[in-house]
Amino acid sequence: MALAASDPAADTTNICSHCERAIPSSNIDLHYAHCSRNLEKCKICGDMVPRKHAEEHYESTHAPVTCSLCSEMMDPENLALHKGEKCPKRIVTCDYCEFPLPAVDLFEHQEVCGNRTELCHLCNRYIRLRERVAHEVTCNGTPAEIPRSIREAERERGARRPPPPPRDLSTRRLLFTIAIAGIAIFLGSLLFQRKPDISQAN
Ligand SMILES: [Zn+2]
Ligand SMILES: [Zn+2]
Ligand SMILES: [Zn+2]
Ligand SMILES: [Zn+2]
Ligand SMILES: [Zn+2]
Repeated sequence: MALAASDPAADTTNICSHCERAIPSSNIDLHYAHCSRNLEKCKICGDMVPRKHAEEHYESTHAPVTCSLCSEMMDPENLALHKGEKCPKRIVTCDYCEFPLPAVDLFEHQEVCGNRTELCHLCNRYIRLRERVAHEVTCNGTPAEIPRSIREAERERGARRPPPPPRDLSTRRLLFTIAIAGIAIFLGSLLFQRKPDISQAN
């Protein structure tokens, strides 16, 4: 009878009740003795950790850490994200002046900083820094834009200028001037005519 000559236990595995790993059945007793004595399951991450390094594992992997910038305590896995994107004290730079400042002050700073204006050298207009990026996309770059519109406005104003005063008014003024001059000449000639009279009387 040569059936089932091989040992069936050699190809099967048992699950270790301590670490829950599959262990060849032939080794299970030895494994379990070693495993249960030396390893323990971390309650936080579920890793099997050597018993004598369990505290070390907790301290280095799971103990809350303090953000060196804002002193907030958090799980260590959140620290990198916190410092990179969330910490209110992390240093960021202003979009407009590139001055470095704590993130918590950025909004207020940019409200003021973005309202400053700067001359666009393409169109010669003063553009708010907060609108500069959008402006650079739409700026047609022709410096003539503003002068042309001023010229058009002036031309329109010229067309709307009140008409010159009616001609008869200026004619009347001219006649009045002639009349005054005529009276002056007349008076002058009267005086001139009297002089010979006086000299003759003497
Ligand atoms: Zn085990
Ligand atoms: Zn752990
Ligand atoms: Zn922080
Ligand atoms: Zn700024
Ligand atoms: Zn422009």
